[in-house]
Amino acid sequence: MLNALTVDVEEYFQVHAFEEVVGRENWENYESRVEASTSRILDILAETGTRASFFILGWIAERHPILVRRIRDAGHEVATHGYGHWLVYRQTPDQFRSDLQRSLDIIQDITGEKVLGFRAPSFSITKHSLWAVDVVQECGLRYDSSIYPARPLVHNRYGFPGAPCAPYLIRPGLWEFPMTIVHWLGRDFPIGGGGWLRHYPYALTRWGLRKVNAEGRPAIVYLHPWEVDPEQPRINGSLWRQFLHYHNLDKTGERIRTLCREFYFAPVREVLGL
Ligand SMILES: [Zn+2]
Repeated sequence: MLNALTVDVEEYFQVHAFEEVVGRENWENYESRVEASTSRILDILAETGTRASFFILGWIAERHPILVRRIRDAGHEVATHGYGHWLVYRQTPDQFRSDLQRSLDIIQDITGEKVLGFRAPSFSITKHSLWAVDVVQECGLRYDSSIYPARPLVHNRYGFPGAPCAPYLIRPGLWEFPMTIVHWLGRDFPIGGGGWLRHYPYALTRWGLRKVNAEGRPAIVYLHPWEVDPEQPRINGSLWRQFLHYHNLDKTGERIRTLCREFYFAPVREVLGL
C-alpha cells in the first residue's frame, strides 16, 4: 500500500515547545541550519528512490528560495506550512487567511506551480478551529493534513478525538489526511510521526505501520529537518522538553532510510490521487 511521507520544513528554533525561550522576535538572531538538515533528508530520499511532500514555512521559503527549488527539482511535492508558524487556534480566521495566503504567494512565486496542500503548525486544527478548513479551501487548496484524530499522549496542544483516522473529504472537494494512529488494546497511539519515530524502538513503528496498512489505511509519516541534525545548538527548556526534542536525533536518518526501504511512500497528492 502507498503511504505518504511528509516533511515540515522549519528551523530548530521555531518549534512551539521552545517558543517562550526563543521568542519569535529573535528568530533572525539564531544560526540557520535548515538548508543543511533538509539536504540530509533529500539525500536519503534520493538514495532510496523515495518522493515526499514538503510543507514549507513561508518564512523559510522567503529566505531560502534555492532550497525550495531544489526540493521541487528533485521531484517532491512542495506544499505549505503557513508563513509564521502560528497555531491556528490562536488566530482569528482573518489572521489565519492572511498568513496562509502570504505563504502561498511566496512559495508559488518561487516554483511557478500551484500549491495543493497545507499542514498547520503543531496540528492545530482542532474541534475549536475547524473554521480553518473552510479558509484552506477558500485559498484554493485541495487538501489539508493538520488533524490529529485522538487525544495526544504527552500534552494537550492538539488533538481532535473522534475525527476519522483515514483520509476523507472534510468538505466537498477538500481532502483531510489525518495523522496516523494505531488502535491497540482499546486505545489510540500515534505512529510514524517525527517524535514517535525517534522515541519508539524502530520495530514498534514497523509493527504499527504494518497494522495500519493491514486495516486498509494508508499511513502518513512526518518529520522535521532538525530531527536529522544532532549537532543543532541546544535551547534551554525543561528537562522533559529537552528529552522530547533531542532524544535519538542521531538515529532518525537511519530510521527514515529503513522506513523507505520497507514501505512504499509517495507525496500526499499522489496518495490522494490529486
Ligand atoms: Zn511546524
